[in-house]
Amino acid sequence: MKQIRLKKCPFCGGKASFKKERIWLEDGISIRCEKCHTKTKIVLIDHPAFSAKCNGLDESTRYTEEQAMEVVAKIWNERKHT
Ligand SMILES: [Zn+2]
Repeated sequence: MKQIRLKKCPFCGGKASFKKERIWLEDGISIRCEKCHTKTKIVLIDHPAFSAKCNGLDESTRYTEEQAMEVVAKIWNERKHT
């Protein structure tokens, strides 16, 4: 896997790591704190989101595994997770 630097957990300072997830038969990636289990949302791999704007599947949201990791790393590092 590609090395992407992750900040420490904003809540407990624990180590964060990528976690492969499977949801609705789709593969995705989230980041989880190994200590308190805070996690980001799951970014799906190779799964375009439905967009009302293009009246169909939005291909710009289709991520490769590497892109999904970068997107979820950005979410984690900006601490916008809940
Ligand atoms: Zn934590």
